[in-house]
Amino acid sequence: MDGILYQSVLVLNAGMIPIDICTVRKAILDILREIAVPINLSRQVIRSPSISLPVPSVIAHINYNRIPRRDISLNKFNIMQRDDQTCAYCRKRFPLSELTIDHIIPRSRWKKTMGDKSAFAFNSWENMVTACNKCNFQKGNRLLSELGWNLSRPPARPAWLPQLYISRQRAEKMGWLDYCGFNVKLMEAPVSPSLRN
Ligand SMILES: [Zn+2]
Repeated sequence: MDGILYQSVLVLNAGMIPIDICTVRKAILDILREIAVPINLSRQVIRSPSISLPVPSVIAHINYNRIPRRDISLNKFNIMQRDDQTCAYCRKRFPLSELTIDHIIPRSRWKKTMGDKSAFAFNSWENMVTACNKCNFQKGNRLLSELGWNLSRPPARPAWLPQLYISRQRAEKMGWLDYCGFNVKLMEAPVSPSLRN
């Protein structure tokens, strides 16, 4: 039974918008506390001598209709999501595994190019973009002006990113697909937690 208790449950707010993923254990406690209702059930049942409970795969928090704000930290995964997994230079989309992060102004050119009064830091939303392996390699230590390359828009901190990133395969398997609209990005490949940090 322990295995079942630590399976994942998709958590919706009162407006049916996905806001989190929790464990079956937490979902059942929230249902018993009457702050959540089951929306979709898996085929599993938890049985003990005194109780038999269907296992939810999706629950909704009935009195909560906000979307919690997620702090958008500067990391490789979030930069790739800001750029929609699209190379800033050749403008083609790639799977995460084929993408890298490029510093627009490379480390070796930073001091000379930016002087002491740069408006942003070397590691910043403004100086980092998603690039495919080929473009990143081709760019090397050069500046965009030296290559005649340009960006479609100046990179900046994104105002918003979806809260949940779930592989399509997992969403299908868990019975979540019908609930994955706003606030969820369905990924074509499994999302490794290590990519997000
Ligand atoms: Zn490219």
